[in-house]
Amino acid sequence: MKKVLSFDVDQTINVAKTPVTDEIADLLLKCLDHFEVCPISGQKFDQFMIQIVDRLKNPTPEQLSHLHLFVAQGTQYYRFDPSKKEWVQVYNYPLTKEQVDKITSTIEKAARELGFWEEDKLAPGDEIIENRLSQVTFSALGQKAGTEEKYAWDPDHKKRDQIAARCKELAPEFEYEVAGTTSINAVTPGMNKSFGMAHLLEELKVDKSDVLYFGDMTQPGGNDYPVVEMGFETITVRNHEDTAFALRGILGIL
Ligand SMILES: [Mg+2]
Repeated sequence: MKKVLSFDVDQTINVAKTPVTDEIADLLLKCLDHFEVCPISGQKFDQFMIQIVDRLKNPTPEQLSHLHLFVAQGTQYYRFDPSKKEWVQVYNYPLTKEQVDKITSTIEKAARELGFWEEDKLAPGDEIIENRLSQVTFSALGQKAGTEEKYAWDPDHKKRDQIAARCKELAPEFEYEVAGTTSINAVTPGMNKSFGMAHLLEELKVDKSDVLYFGDMTQPGGNDYPVVEMGFETITVRNHEDTAFALRGILGIL
C-alpha cells in the first residue's frame, strides 16, 4: 500500500495553468484522508493556492496537514500548520541574481535566433521569461495566453527542444526542461524534480517504494523524467481525465 501520492500539476491534475476541476478537487480531498498528497510543479506558491488549495471544498485542518506543496520543482516546500492554520515554508533554495540574469539573457537570445521570440503576441503587462526564485521559466506566449493558443504553439515540443538545445550550447552550466504546453524551466543541475522528490522522501520520512507518482511528461527530456529515472513507480497520464480515472480506481469508487 502506497503512503504518498505525488502529482505533477500542469496537464496531470489540471488543464495547464488553470484551477483543477470540481472532480479532481473532490478526488484530491478524498485522497487526503488516506494518503500524503504531494503536488510538485515548476509553478510558484500562489499558483498552487489558486489551482489546487482554493479549489478544495471545506477541507479540515487535519486534511490540509496531509497536503504537501513542492513548489518550483520542489526547490521550495510548504506545509500546512494546523495549530496556526496557515501555510509555512519549510525550505527554499533560490537561484542567485547572477544565475537568473544569465539564464534570462540566454533563453531570450536562443529564442530570438530561432524565430520563437513571440513578444508581439503577449498580453499587456505579461512576460515571456519569469523569475520563479528557484528556477527561471520561459513561457513562449506569456502567462496570460489562452489555453487553445498555447496547445497549438508547440504540440510536438519541437520548438522548445530546439530552444533548449541552443540554450545548452550558450550556457551549458544550466539545465533546460520542456514543461507544460509552452514552457521551458531552467535550473541549476540537479535542481529539477529529482531534487524535490529526494527532499520529499526526507521530509515525509518515507521510502521510494511508498510513493506513487503521476505525470504527463515522463518521456526522456520531459520535466517528469527525472522522477522516472530515480526509480519511482510512475503512472503516465495524458491529462487530468486519466488521473481522475486512476484515482477513482485507487480510492475504490465508481
Ligand atoms: Mg506536466
